[in-house]
Amino acid sequence: MTRLTFHGAAETVTGSRYLLEAPDGTILVDCGLFQGLKELRLRNWNPLPFNPAKVDAVVLTHAHIDHIGYLPKFVKAGFRGPIYATPATVELAEILLMDSARNQEGDARYFNRKGTSKHAPALPLYDEPDVPPTLRLMRPTGRGQWFNPAGSIWCQYHDAGHLLGSTLIQVEVRDKPKPLRITFSGDVGRYAAPLYHDPNPPPACDYLICESTYGDRDHGPEQVLDQLADVVNESIRRGGVMLIASFAVGRAQQLIYLLGVLLERNRIPEIPIYLDSPMASSATKIFLDHVDEHDLSESRLTGRDHVLEARNVTLARSAEESKRINNVESGAVIIASSGMMTGGRILHHLKRRLPDPRNTIVLGGYQAAGTRGRDLQEGRRTIRVYGSDVPVRAHVAEISAISGHAGRSELLRWLQPLEPPRRTFITHGELPSANALARTLRETRGWDVVIPKMEQAFELEAAP
Ligand SMILES: [Zn+2]
Repeated sequence: MTRLTFHGAAETVTGSRYLLEAPDGTILVDCGLFQGLKELRLRNWNPLPFNPAKVDAVVLTHAHIDHIGYLPKFVKAGFRGPIYATPATVELAEILLMDSARNQEGDARYFNRKGTSKHAPALPLYDEPDVPPTLRLMRPTGRGQWFNPAGSIWCQYHDAGHLLGSTLIQVEVRDKPKPLRITFSGDVGRYAAPLYHDPNPPPACDYLICESTYGDRDHGPEQVLDQLADVVNESIRRGGVMLIASFAVGRAQQLIYLLGVLLERNRIPEIPIYLDSPMASSATKIFLDHVDEHDLSESRLTGRDHVLEARNVTLARSAEESKRINNVESGAVIIASSGMMTGGRILHHLKRRLPDPRNTIVLGGYQAAGTRGRDLQEGRRTIRVYGSDVPVRAHVAEISAISGHAGRSELLRWLQPLEPPRRTFITHGELPSANALARTLRETRGWDVVIPKMEQAFELEAAP
């Protein structure tokens, strides 16, 4: 009997960890960090309910921290097997895990300074020296070929169209004449999204594990280029500065690309663009090395120089260069991370820009509960930054069309060609989203759909 246990991304969007135990081998699909609400973040510190040393391999869908950010801790706890990922995911994982380690160290320093931790001294979940041993276990594995991570478990990657290197995973457990087929959706990308290809259709399966980040919402019919042009031009009319909170990996490159297209088509004036993230510039290099993975059809220009190095872009590498951007008064775009404003250089920009009604703060992407991004989205009048309450007088705008996640209709479009699986597990969504998608699949397609709870396990069997 094969067993699937949900150790994360159950009734929430972060901490993706699915344990698949076949009779002769065990893999963990994704090994993500819990983020957002404190009760979730504390879960990162719980002892694991299974022994990492007994897991044969980890198979990753993509490099976002909520899918890989627990790996260094997992290795510290005894995991020694291979970690399978696409070549681009392996490269992105290096910069994302190093950044995550620095954040963990920063948090520990903060708690020690404030003396608020129960533990003295507070320790980071992992630190920078923990990252290289994790990276050494990585096995770059291309899409469209079967690989055999453990026992009778075979996997094949397909493009999920969500981030450079992102995949959905087709699994077969071949311990019987008829294989048990399982499909893990990973994070499903959007159709006709700039920079990314459309997600591949889901392979036929007995069991489907499907994300539901936007299971209850669509992104609206507006095209991302129109939406971005409107927000930029409106921000210039207000007379201030436009500050975009962006993931450094993926989103920042997409924004630079789109702003380049808008400049090229004279849809926005020649304004300076500041990319304030050393990590974003490292990530950009990786994006340039994988030009063949991008869909660049929006632009007349092609190739290396254009993709992510649009004109007017100034890169702020050092902290001094970052602070110098504070002198800019108007008519500029600043892109800084993190995307949900939980840390990073965006914080000092928020402190500088939020109190001025001429400025525009742009949310680009999903804002998890418990983050400053969600607070701004919900219209809070003050936001806490570096221990002080900063008044929100700036205009808050959203570019919903730039999301990396399929909206509700796109998820349903993606699922459309699939024959009914024996059972579908809805994960990676807050409960209202997961419920909405589950209800639709039950009512319109008659599927057997379950929203698993944290640590819930299920026995899986091939169709007779
Ligand atoms: Zn993701």
